[in-house]
Amino acid sequence: MEQWKKELAGLDATGMRRSLKVVEDGQGPHVQIDGRDLLLLCSNNYLGIAGHPALVEAAVAATRNFGAGSGASRLISGTLRSHADLEERLACFKGTEAALLFNSGYAANTGILQGLLGPDDLVFSDALNHASIIDGCRLSQARTVVYPHADLAALEELMVMERPQRKGRWLIVTDGVFSMDGDLAPLDALCDLKEANDALLMVDDAHGTGVLGIHGRGSGELLGCLDRIDLHMGTLGKGLGCAGAYLASSRAAIDTLINRSRPFIFSTSLPPAVPASAMAALDLVESEEGAVLRRDLERNRQLFTERLTVGGLDLLGSCTQIVPVLTREPQATMAMSQKLFEQGVFVQGIRPPTVPEGACRLRATVMATHTPEELLQAANLIRDVVRESAV
Ligand SMILES: *Cc1c(COP(=O)(O)O)cnc(C)c1O
Repeated sequence: MEQWKKELAGLDATGMRRSLKVVEDGQGPHVQIDGRDLLLLCSNNYLGIAGHPALVEAAVAATRNFGAGSGASRLISGTLRSHADLEERLACFKGTEAALLFNSGYAANTGILQGLLGPDDLVFSDALNHASIIDGCRLSQARTVVYPHADLAALEELMVMERPQRKGRWLIVTDGVFSMDGDLAPLDALCDLKEANDALLMVDDAHGTGVLGIHGRGSGELLGCLDRIDLHMGTLGKGLGCAGAYLASSRAAIDTLINRSRPFIFSTSLPPAVPASAMAALDLVESEEGAVLRRDLERNRQLFTERLTVGGLDLLGSCTQIVPVLTREPQATMAMSQKLFEQGVFVQGIRPPTVPEGACRLRATVMATHTPEELLQAANLIRDVVRESAV
């Protein structure tokens, strides 16, 4: 215990200590924390549908019919009708032969990479990929080559270097939307590269699912290459407002995971309320109401980023609803986040190891349900706080 205390004191001293904030009430865009009302600017509930009556009612009905828990892992007796129905729906949504649910995005990425790859295989992984992909690469025992962020020329060069000693499968893995920078992977060019090199492409669309593309099918749809992606990973806990994650892919890939993926096999399946509400979320996403929410989100994103850019802030090339504001050092970043909190705006500061040293940031996320007025006001407050800190 003493050693942990000492290590925690070390984190305090460098502004690296993390702690939890308890949300008392609300699904956003306003929440109650510490007895005050805050504008929520750091939720991944982008469409604002986590508390939508259709999702809530679906969850309640499934709980009434099936109970609170599933009772077992998927291969025992924990595959319920609502899990199977959602998997079929997700395969349709992504245009693949099959799909498989995981209990979280973290479990999905570790489970997909571990289940599909082995020591003879080679993974090419973007330098800014999510931590769960990095951990999945480790668990897979495949050799992993990290390529500079979204750098196609560097990736191609690495492939040329690796070609002579090629043994097994090659897999390129990338976030569709990068979770801390809010930029998009160059998916069409990655498709060209993987096809030219007999490799597979896996896209983690945690932040694109439900949100991007004309039908909400994600970054692949937005960039016009949905049907060329081999492995579509996505989460249900962000844009879709529920929990859990999935892989949509070929029947062979899915059946392999059912047989080999340890996070899939050795864990109790999602409670029935989750797939039932995710089904309702997909209905919503594919409806006219979903299209309106995506339009509102895009309008909000544009006016928020425009106001910050005019204010002279560095948004690190964001082109989605994830809007980072570069602030560099951890202590200053957390002080800015605290100051904004006191002014009624909840936006988290992000520090290493989530982002590289010296690249701390305020990571704001826009929701479809924010009003333009409150976003412009928040952007002004952020601009002022960042500028004050710079002088
Ligand atoms: C959030 C996130 C995950 C993890 O998903 P969870 O369902 O929250 O475990 C995976 N990949 C990316 C890119 C993410 O942003």
